[in-house]
Amino acid sequence: MTEQTSYPKLFGTNGIRGIPGKDLTLDFVTEMAQSIGSYFSGQRSLLIGKDVRNSSPALSKAVLSGVLSSGANGEEADIAPTPAHQFAVRSFGYGGGIIVTASHNPSQYNGMKVIGSDGVEISRESEREIETIYHEKKYKKADWKSIGRSGKETHVVENYIKGIMSQVNSAKIAESKFTVVMDIGNGAQAVAAPYLGERLGCRIITINGQADGNFPGRGPEPTPTNLKDLSEAVKVYSAAFGVAYDGDGDRSLFCDENGLIYWGDRTGSLLVDFLLEKHPGGPVCTTVSTSQLVGIIAQKHNAKVIWTTVGAVDVSRAMVNSQAPLGLEENGGFFYGPHIPVRDGAMTTALILEALASRKTSFSKAIQSLPTFYQKKAKYECPNEKKPQVMKYLETESKEGKIDRTDGLKIWIDEHTWILLRPSGTEPLIRVYAESDDEVKLDSLYERFQAMVKEATAS
Ligand code: MG
Repeated sequence: MTEQTSYPKLFGTNGIRGIPGKDLTLDFVTEMAQSIGSYFSGQRSLLIGKDVRNSSPALSKAVLSGVLSSGANGEEADIAPTPAHQFAVRSFGYGGGIIVTASHNPSQYNGMKVIGSDGVEISRESEREIETIYHEKKYKKADWKSIGRSGKETHVVENYIKGIMSQVNSAKIAESKFTVVMDIGNGAQAVAAPYLGERLGCRIITINGQADGNFPGRGPEPTPTNLKDLSEAVKVYSAAFGVAYDGDGDRSLFCDENGLIYWGDRTGSLLVDFLLEKHPGGPVCTTVSTSQLVGIIAQKHNAKVIWTTVGAVDVSRAMVNSQAPLGLEENGGFFYGPHIPVRDGAMTTALILEALASRKTSFSKAIQSLPTFYQKKAKYECPNEKKPQVMKYLETESKEGKIDRTDGLKIWIDEHTWILLRPSGTEPLIRVYAESDDEVKLDSLYERFQAMVKEATAS
């Protein structure tokens, strides 16, 4: 067999990404879809899904065309959140799926996520297999008799909403008569989350609620700094909480009834605390960039945490391998295994509603009951070819602490203080995360490493 690692990687942390007409040319997209179709050869039909991007309808046709010319069958779905397409692949019995999306990237980007028949992103090994088929041009070219058949899949969103509702106590949620503000960010949850909320008996207020590939509202990536409108709206409407979704609707960030925004590991820990009562022992899968809070909550319930490399695929696959019911990421990805072990913004919203309804408490009180840790995050530009050299420099310069090499360089300075330096898998960036139970300690540690990273990336 040919050495696979010698080929350039086309899959990043989360699928293939690029700019249509530039990296994602028509030739590249169709040949890649032919390669993916060949990888799934002999399986049942493939689902071709898409998000709201302006280039998604054209790319979806190119993907379908590539799949059919490899001899595989394909069914095209309308706009839906990524987790809705994933749930459709599994529950309707598709052989696999390709979702045209660039998640939270700016509007000029697009990409492809490849889904296995279990609805979860394919493994890293399968990505390498597809890259090899592509680079060696070993994809199938069907003759006129064996070209695949195409069709339409029209039940993705309804199936998704019903699937989520079956996982929560709808009657209990409805009793609480919650008001919820949803910042859709002009993304794919426009077609699902508000309708789910209404069917769970909530009063739903939306902002940036129209699906729009130009993302004219606050952009496709929710962060605690661009959700001021959400915070304001929550206060104006006296809502129980607010939630903001990313472009393809798999991630969700929440704010409490006072408009205070939280990172995903804090709200995720709240859910872990609630859900470990339903799923005793866990385990809980999360990435090394997630707060140690998750570990503390899991310990309280005698549950194990499996720490993974950074990336939703890594968490999902760890959940599949360990049959874990729960997974989370600090960026707002929460994974609920009993539904489907992929991150899912609308499923997460339903679980938060259930947790608040069951505990009969406010969002802020539920969060305040968790231990406090201080965090800092930043990103520094660094060309891809310089990343190994920069990481080596940082390792030599950091002379203290216990090192965890699960992903990048995670340095534990003391029992509750760590810093993670990690080259991004998708962008020319070095990402820095730091956390401590002591704010002063965190500031000085962060400043010291920030200076080192700046020096290393500048030289
Ligand atoms: Mg996303």
